[in-house]
Amino acid sequence: SNCLRIENLSKKYVSEKDKVVHALGSTTIDIKENDFVCIVGPSGCGKSTLLRIIAGLEAATTGKVFFYGKELKEPTRDIGMIFQQYSLLPWRTVEDNIVLGLEFRKESNAIKKEAAEKFLNIIGMGEFRNAYPFELSGGMQQRVAIARALANDPKVLLMDEPFGALDAHTRILMQRELLRIWRDNRKTILFVTHSVDEAIYLADKIIVMSSRPGTIKKVIDVDMPRP
Ligand code: ADP
Ligand code: ADP
Repeated sequence: SNCLRIENLSKKYVSEKDKVVHALGSTTIDIKENDFVCIVGPSGCGKSTLLRIIAGLEAATTGKVFFYGKELKEPTRDIGMIFQQYSLLPWRTVEDNIVLGLEFRKESNAIKKEAAEKFLNIIGMGEFRNAYPFELSGGMQQRVAIARALANDPKVLLMDEPFGALDAHTRILMQRELLRIWRDNRKTILFVTHSVDEAIYLADKIIVMSSRPGTIKKVIDVDMPRP
């Protein structure tokens, strides 16, 4: 079965002045295990809304999300989300940020230590384990945010313009690193970006949304050799 099936998903917001905003039309998408799917489209077309609903951070107005054929009714650790802004806790060190999800699940210190080592190594930041977020560059903070999401061992990573705030050089490094992580850890990735270049570089499949919220204009299979 598909890893994710998004079926007739729609979202309406009603503003204070009783104005109805259609944030997402009736969207249907199937995503296979291990796919790296990029979603591109103009600002306001519902990309973030789509990811937030899949992550369970928001309820859909209509429609359903299936995870391996089973309807998702609440957030699950199998689906992790990474945002554009570094969402690290400023009062916690790098290491303590990485193990946050494990701590919520009351994992033992030994398990947390092991996970911290593994993911510090994956992001190449072992020597920063005791640093605080404010001591790090934006790119480093975002690496820690990715490590924190990975430490939860999700099957699916939802990424909402995760590199949007980075300078061009750091963005390229992070893109490479993400591809490596994706290959080595067999993740299914749904990645929202403004940048068609970024989508072509990263994706197996690009979903192009139109400015009419939730409308899929085109699905492109990217058949290019990986770097
Ligand atoms: P994108 O990520 O593609 O830029 P969004 O999913 O953020 O688009 O937003 C889709 C539409 O829904 C936009 O018109 C946006 O203004 C509106 N919207 C998003 N969140 C809310 C909200 N909490 N309340 C009202 N309108 C919203
Ligand atoms: P303290 O050192 O005071 O125990 P923690 O670092 O454990 O503080 O976190 C304090 C509180 O912040 C947690 O109990 C939790 O309610 C909240 N919190 C931590 N991480 C998150 C998160 N990722 N999302 C939402 N709330 C969080």
